Amino acid sequence: MAYYVYKCNARGPEYARASGDWCEVFDAGGIQPWGLSTLKGVDQLDVGDLLLAYQTDRNELVGVARVVRWDPEDGARRVVVEPIEPIGVKVRPLRSDPRIATIQAFKPGDIRTAYRISAVDARLVLDAARQATRERRPAVLATQHDELIDAFADLPTRERRAVLRWIKVVARASALRPKVLRLWPSRCAACGLEIVDHDGNAECEVAHIKDVHAAGLDLIGNGLPLCRTHHWAFDRGLWAIHPTKLTIEVARRSRKHLGDIHGKVIVRPSSIKGIAALGREYLEWRWAQFQRRGR
Ligand SMILES: [Zn+2]
Repeated sequence: MAYYVYKCNARGPEYARASGDWCEVFDAGGIQPWGLSTLKGVDQLDVGDLLLAYQTDRNELVGVARVVRWDPEDGARRVVVEPIEPIGVKVRPLRSDPRIATIQAFKPGDIRTAYRISAVDARLVLDAARQATRERRPAVLATQHDELIDAFADLPTRERRAVLRWIKVVARASALRPKVLRLWPSRCAACGLEIVDHDGNAECEVAHIKDVHAAGLDLIGNGLPLCRTHHWAFDRGLWAIHPTKLTIEVARRSRKHLGDIHGKVIVRPSSIKGIAALGREYLEWRWAQFQRRGR
């Protein structure tokens, strides 16, 4: 059995169509067709080999997949893999270990390429990555993942992926909500709306500032309480928060309907135990997205 690192990169619509994202493989779960033998380095793979799934556009080690078999396809061969361990940690901090920093596959280099690495190196990386997940991740869904795969097994792959991705977003938002609401008052940070039902449940939801799909974490600093309307509009990039001024900027074309929050300052709650609301790096990520789409 050999270890490989496969560098996937889905930046830009062309890449995304052609090479997809390692996340899709791990979200879908189960045995599934993957890359063709024509991809660089991929034809060396043997059944039983382990692939460390490296998504370079997010600098993320997504997980470990096992090579199950090869299927013939149009004069080439398609490798069939099974994701066996989702990980989901950033590679950059792992490189603070000088032994990891010297591994060729984790240095800048060709993407969409399989790099062979030694078993010793693989174990080093995996141990560091597992340690990092233990330190930061609430184990949302990890245990239910297999049950979910079974429950939606009859759906075509594409639809199953879409459903699982949606469930993941909902589950992670519900995991983040109580943490954020311990820090913030339970009302919309944009408009101040605060409705509570007869049982005392607040209407407001908690948005991920950095998308779950972009590896945004379930951390307090990445959560923002919003009413349903403003959450919907925030997720669609109709408004954003300036990362330093903390003012709300509504996209020009949406000002007719969302104009009442434009220019308002979000009041950040005081931190508890040194955990601050509104992490600057998440706001910056969202702000950059907002500007890219055109304000
Ligand atoms: Zn609101």
